[in-house]
Amino acid sequence: MTRVYNFSAGPAALPEAVLRQAAGEMLDWQGSGMSVMEMSHRGREFMSIHAQAQADLRALLGVPAGYRTLFMQGGAIAENAIVPMNLMRGRAGADYIDTGAWSQRSIAEARKFGRINVAASAAGSGYTDIPPREQWRLDPQAAYVHICSNETIGGVQYHWTPEVGEVPLVADVSSDILSRPLDVSKYGLLYGGAQKNIGPAGLTIVIVREDLLGQAHPLTPDAFNYGLQAEADSMLNTPPTYAIYIAGLVFQWLQRQGGLAAMAVRNHAKAALLYDYLDCTGFYRAPVARACRSWMNVPFKLADEGLDAEFLQGAEAAGLKQLKGHRIVGGMRASIYNAMPIEGVQALVAYMKDFAQRRG
Ligand SMILES: *Cc1c(COP(=O)(O)O)cnc(C)c1O
Repeated sequence: MTRVYNFSAGPAALPEAVLRQAAGEMLDWQGSGMSVMEMSHRGREFMSIHAQAQADLRALLGVPAGYRTLFMQGGAIAENAIVPMNLMRGRAGADYIDTGAWSQRSIAEARKFGRINVAASAAGSGYTDIPPREQWRLDPQAAYVHICSNETIGGVQYHWTPEVGEVPLVADVSSDILSRPLDVSKYGLLYGGAQKNIGPAGLTIVIVREDLLGQAHPLTPDAFNYGLQAEADSMLNTPPTYAIYIAGLVFQWLQRQGGLAAMAVRNHAKAALLYDYLDCTGFYRAPVARACRSWMNVPFKLADEGLDAEFLQGAEAAGLKQLKGHRIVGGMRASIYNAMPIEGVQALVAYMKDFAQRRG
């Protein structure tokens, strides 16, 4: 068996140790005689898996009292609607910060539910930076302020937490949750799909401050009502049981790595290795402004786009997979989430150097 270095933006690589453990437990989870996939979500075995996963997630992130952690479904794209349905709370509208493709998806969906004020936009830079806080034109009456903490496609990431006063701060953290410590108390709500940096597709994580619950729009489907899901401990409908189990194994793996502070050191080192090389060659180019370069998704271009296909072909042959950039941005993108070991980034840089030498 050969495992490749998988640079996919999502669904993305998982830690090999987690996959091995899941394989070992596939037919018989801890003497239950059942696969986790076959268990009743209300049975003793799965309830323990669910409770442990929730406790481990809270411990990893240091989720304070007064916040609920929900395991939902529908991904971040569903949350784009679920957030306004739950958080508009009778107010006229909400503020959104536009930093790229995923912010724009959020904005377009939220417009169905209220007056959306784009309080700042990175359009002027071609989405290669984040507008500084001084330029945000926030509405103090807004229901909430929405940001995307890491633009998975553009490779733009906040390395600071915006201060927005009394208005709840909401963040789509799909592609950088658990990559480093995060001060949950600064947010009203965090949400993200699991398939980038946590586990399999199908699970959506929501962390919400309790005072924001219970005011959903009357037309909100029960399954998407945060208050009802919190009351039901995320079991109002059948939760994505196997995805929760794998996410739970990933949480335990993260604890064994030393937790989020240790992951931050590693992730920063991985990103620095790649950006440092990109900055010292004319053959490749990193388009994003230094202060907001993503540690998770690293877009880069070849100076000669005519070589893109050959670059990708050679990378594939070298076991470096899924490096093609998103069609909106073009070029290449290396997604280097928690599960990507530094050896994978070293192999990528070595291949890039070799390719530049041969074709430069
Ligand atoms: C992948 C991604 C999404 C879309 O997630 P789905 O699970 O497909 O709904 C939204 N926002 C960000 C930041 C993403 O990375």
